[in-house]
Amino acid sequence: MSEGQLYLVGGLVRDVLLGETSNLQDIDLVVEGVASITVARQLQKQLGGKLECHQAFGTCTLDIGESVIDIVTARREHYDPPGTLPKVSFSTIKDDLARRDFSMNALAVRLYPAALELLDFHEGVKDLQTKHLRVLHQDSFNDDPTRIVRGARLAGRLGFRWEEKTRIQLDEALRSPSLANVSKDRLKQELGLTLAEKKVTPALGVLQDCGALAALFGLTLNVPMTTRLDALRQTLDVPAESYLLALLLMKSKADLTPWLETFNYSPRYLESVDRLLEIKNTQEVWGQQFAKLTAAETCAVRSLSSDLDQRIQALTLQFTQRRLSGKDVLDLGLKSGPDVGAVLARVAKARDSGQVETFEDELGLARRLVRVMTEKR
Ligand code: ATP
Repeated sequence: MSEGQLYLVGGLVRDVLLGETSNLQDIDLVVEGVASITVARQLQKQLGGKLECHQAFGTCTLDIGESVIDIVTARREHYDPPGTLPKVSFSTIKDDLARRDFSMNALAVRLYPAALELLDFHEGVKDLQTKHLRVLHQDSFNDDPTRIVRGARLAGRLGFRWEEKTRIQLDEALRSPSLANVSKDRLKQELGLTLAEKKVTPALGVLQDCGALAALFGLTLNVPMTTRLDALRQTLDVPAESYLLALLLMKSKADLTPWLETFNYSPRYLESVDRLLEIKNTQEVWGQQFAKLTAAETCAVRSLSSDLDQRIQALTLQFTQRRLSGKDVLDLGLKSGPDVGAVLARVAKARDSGQVETFEDELGLARRLVRVMTEKR
């Protein structure tokens, strides 16, 4: 690359400055003074991987397996009217950073030429140190209210809080009529990303506290459930859908269908909510009910109460545990015929009454039964 300039931008710069270097999955690069495709092709030559470019938008994505590198031409944006998608034109790195959501995300590190110079036009480093989320201009949230959700996600994850003026602008944006212009698809996408956080409750808490969970999504936080889901997520793959179910349980039945339609979610959530409500009301899960639960519903049930959590764990063990089969009985030396069925029935009865618990118990009982049967002959 002999002309132009190349910068590392976005979340990675922020995270490195915060001392967090474990996530190198998404790398954002901005080029100035040269087409992004030229740089992207040079990178591909050196690193390999699969390259996709949209030349008209000046965007390229290089997938090298362990990382996905976005390479875009520096741009400026203009929102007209607020809340709609911006009009874009190619420009300088300074303009490119000025279109970003928060000061801490508006930092860049020059990689070429004169490598490793930090560009900080918006006091991002200071805000990183004081743990403040600060927008770059007063119309930022009006232009793009999804930034509120992005901010809450970062605040929850990193323990940041809104800077004072930013908080005032946030309140204004939530009251503004232009809030209605924001695309429900984009909001849904941001909600999905939020529900995929390692810990979801802090981010949802920030959203709820500033009034955005209600104003943008018409939702109310379900602290007991999401807190338990966060705890489960430390050790289990808890689907984002389980969190959504927790939030939907806070809504009245009459509000559910219009909500799902507004955000274009499948009506099958209605059935999930019904199943969860029934279990919540009875505080019991029967084997047949358990067998029908999806993975997301199962986690949601576990988060309803500690009794239900234990019940689901017991059922999981029961359903995944190896059970005595006809072949096991034949292997014990019984000839195929009605006696095999009789042994299986006796073992099943003993299982249901709790007399036998493990597969070894079942096999032991079957062995005794087979011995008695063969001795009789
Ligand atoms: P994460 O760690 O959650 O991925 P990130 O900051 O890398 O955080 P991305 O969604 O990958 O998030 O966005 C990359 C960068 O693009 C952000 O750091 C920010 O500078 C900018 N950005 C993304 N979305 C917006 C937006 N809606 N408005 C302004 N800038 C945005």
